[in-house]
Amino acid sequence: MIFASAGHCNARGHKNQDSGAVGINGRWEADEAVKVKNRVIAILESKGYNVITDNPTESLREYLARIKPGPASVVVEFHFDAAANPKATGCSVLVGDDSSKNSQNMARELSEIISKALGIRLRDGGDGDGILFEKDSHRGRLGLMREAGTVALVEVCFITNPDDMAAFDDPAKFEAMCQGIATVLGKYEDLIK
Ligand SMILES: [Zn+2]
Repeated sequence: MIFASAGHCNARGHKNQDSGAVGINGRWEADEAVKVKNRVIAILESKGYNVITDNPTESLREYLARIKPGPASVVVEFHFDAAANPKATGCSVLVGDDSSKNSQNMARELSEIISKALGIRLRDGGDGDGILFEKDSHRGRLGLMREAGTVALVEVCFITNPDDMAAFDDPAKFEAMCQGIATVLGKYEDLIK
């Protein structure tokens, strides 16, 4: 089973409302993450995969408490990065410090396909491994990383960078990125069935 969720909660006026980062032109991380999630799920479902996802008004805490991934599950969540410096750029994919080889390999493939599709750099902390471990990120311990299965958290690009978002808004690049993500998720779902 594939579990795909969008970070934060874009339900205006709901008690769980959480914009995530606010980027260029007042854009909400929560809204952009839903766009990626919805397209990736549509592609996966068209290929016959079953996908569990978060409800529009659900907080991450509620979602994580509800889902029950197993060792053979694929778990992914979509976020955007943000920085005070509008030039900060790139895609990064995070895994847990105690993550499995499968998680690390899936994360590496996701970061490669996203950075290639959007034409932006891949952020890995400079060690060349293509991924970021929890301890190397500024986010600390992530609840998502404690779920069973093959798990990764995607930071698509910088919502605060006009060039990153122009690439994200390009329909052909967006589609190539979502197709690539769906292919990788499907591959790891098939791998461990
Ligand atoms: Zn986020």
